Amino acid sequence: MSTVLPVIEPALKPQPHTDVDFDEKLAAHGLELRAVTVDTLQVNVGKLCNQACKHCHVDASPKRTEIMMRETAEAVIDAVHRFRIPTLDITGGAPELNPSFRYLVTEGHTAGAHVIVRHNLTVMFESGQADLPEFFRNHAVEVVSSLPYFLEEQTDAHYRTAIIWGALTTLAGALVLGLFAARMMKFFTSGIVSAKPTPAFTLAVICGTVGWVIIATVTHLPVSTTHAIAGSLLGAGWLFAPTAIAWSKLAPRLAVPLLLSIASLTRFLLVLIKCSPGATRRRSIAFALEQSSLMPACCK
Ligand code: SF4
Repeated sequence: MSTVLPVIEPALKPQPHTDVDFDEKLAAHGLELRAVTVDTLQVNVGKLCNQACKHCHVDASPKRTEIMMRETAEAVIDAVHRFRIPTLDITGGAPELNPSFRYLVTEGHTAGAHVIVRHNLTVMFESGQADLPEFFRNHAVEVVSSLPYFLEEQTDAHYRTAIIWGALTTLAGALVLGLFAARMMKFFTSGIVSAKPTPAFTLAVICGTVGWVIIATVTHLPVSTTHAIAGSLLGAGWLFAPTAIAWSKLAPRLAVPLLLSIASLTRFLLVLIKCSPGATRRRSIAFALEQSSLMPACCK
């Protein structure tokens, strides 16, 4: 059975554009529009942020250098004093990373303003920021942070999904490491150099491995200790016993880990797609992964 729905006329129809002057229109009605007071001074202290969210509408990131300078911050505090502005609202980027952030909060609070900080909930894990909660409390700061959804259930679901995936993959990684680490180490490193190790050879392998792991860690490169050892063995072998290197055994030791990585990634993506029966669920997982650092949807 079909039903014909009534057409409801909008209460207010769009008015055609006219060239009426706004001030004249107010005057015609005996109205005057003027600023009475400033309730809130909102300052954006720059685009520097510890995160680089895809959805960020100010394109903030750790690489951005546009930040409010000290003189401007001092002018802000001067304005709060002079005009007795009741609320100072500080946003960014991650405003906490601006060198003048604590000055603004402290002086704003001292000037009697209610200070609001748009906080992304993750910047407190950055170096030198661990005391932020205490700092906020000591200056009676109102912390404003946003979450992925306006309903508690959906927000929890996003985080739950990310946490479950994180926990499962970490557990799987730990189990695999415990079960196969020794065998993998033996497979990837034994037989590369057949010469008897001398003290100099051993020292070179240790220095090469430790050095590479340190460099990779400092420069945030992905690193495998097994491959660091294999590379060091090869380098030391080349230096001390070039004729003892078994070149024919190197190819499988390089190719197998690469192929395994590709196979693991493919398998992971297939599981991800298959285990989600609907598009909504897929979006949810993708979103949860994107949000895996438990960051807010946006800190504005
Ligand atoms: S959305 Fe917020 S937390 Fe993310 S990059 Fe932008 S300012 Fe930083």
